[in-house]
Amino acid sequence: MKISSIANQITPSLTRELYNKAQEYDDVIDLTLGDPDIQPSEIIKNAAIESIKKGKTRYSVNAGLIELRTSIANQFKKEYGIHIDADENVIVTVGGMEALFLSLKCIIDEGDEVIIPAPYYVNYVQMVKMCGGIPIIVNTDEENSFAITAQLIEPYITDRTVAIIINSPSNPTGQILSVDILDEIARLANKYDLSVISDEVYKTLIYNGFKHNSIINSPNMKEKTIIIDSLSKRFAMTGYRIGYAIAPKEMIANMTKMQENVAACVSLPSQYAAIAAIENCLDDEIISNIFEERCKIMYDEIINIKKLKCRLPKATFYLFVNIKDTGLNSMEFAYRLLECEHVAVAPGITYGEKYDSYIRIACTLDKKILKKAGSKISHFVNEL
Ligand code: PLP
Repeated sequence: MKISSIANQITPSLTRELYNKAQEYDDVIDLTLGDPDIQPSEIIKNAAIESIKKGKTRYSVNAGLIELRTSIANQFKKEYGIHIDADENVIVTVGGMEALFLSLKCIIDEGDEVIIPAPYYVNYVQMVKMCGGIPIIVNTDEENSFAITAQLIEPYITDRTVAIIINSPSNPTGQILSVDILDEIARLANKYDLSVISDEVYKTLIYNGFKHNSIINSPNMKEKTIIIDSLSKRFAMTGYRIGYAIAPKEMIANMTKMQENVAACVSLPSQYAAIAAIENCLDDEIISNIFEERCKIMYDEIINIKKLKCRLPKATFYLFVNIKDTGLNSMEFAYRLLECEHVAVAPGITYGEKYDSYIRIACTLDKKILKKAGSKISHFVNEL
């Protein structure tokens, strides 16, 4: 059977590789995927069950139930201070991932370039390739807290550049971009007429008094920004597969045309659960407190291990740990840790070639299990 050259270019991520390998062990502590053990609240679960019981399980319009889009638009006004039209500026998607894919599909022509700051969420690179585009990677470094800046980006802009993807708070580093940095990136977007895809799926998991800032609030960015958001992390609804994009009218109309041909619409029980989550849930603080505590526990474990270094993340539930002093590369570290101690983590190289001396630990499990994982990592490193 013929396989397209685009499909041949796509490789499974190393995070998934380690996750798959971890499933071979009965007693594994799996800290690979960004998929927490927390359950959504009963209100959310009941809304999905009710929708099934009442037979509210047919297709919806491609952009998603208007009730859900209205809830999203109202919440957006409260959180960003910007009025958007529920019908014209919002599309509901199968997770934030499908919002990313549909937006890239609507922006990229064959050979167009998309700027991706690294370390990056690996799916950005793959999706750009799936759309026939060329990912242009701009590295950041630990000395500058992995913050991307306009100064780093500008030399990579060519006449084929169509968009910049930014991810604040960032997976895997937990970095948050300041208003000044965002304003500078916005200046570039305006100067070179680029779209900005702003992935804000971790915006409610922010700690220590830090604040989320969005590039949509920078000068002249309302018409240039596509916000990608999701209920996966915010309400612990990863498997419900609910995300959305907020964008100018023309972009949403085109993404909706694409949606008709990809998924038709998001599963209806999930859409009803999403309305319940947005309208009734006051879980942001509860969930972010859980992750803040978990990150701190794992951070305390890691900084007490001589050959490892890391920073306490400002946001998200990931620790990006420097393993350089162990002398192992990130794949060797991840595989050997799994084999010796049955603890699974993601190798840094999956987030960009430059990051082969890092691993990512997702603090997705209970405090006690994280502490145990910390001791096992310590035992592993001390035995090297
Ligand atoms: N963006 C980032 C940075 C992520 O880490 C993830 C998931 O891990 C997503 C988007 C997509 O999440 P979902 O499709 O579950 O909404």
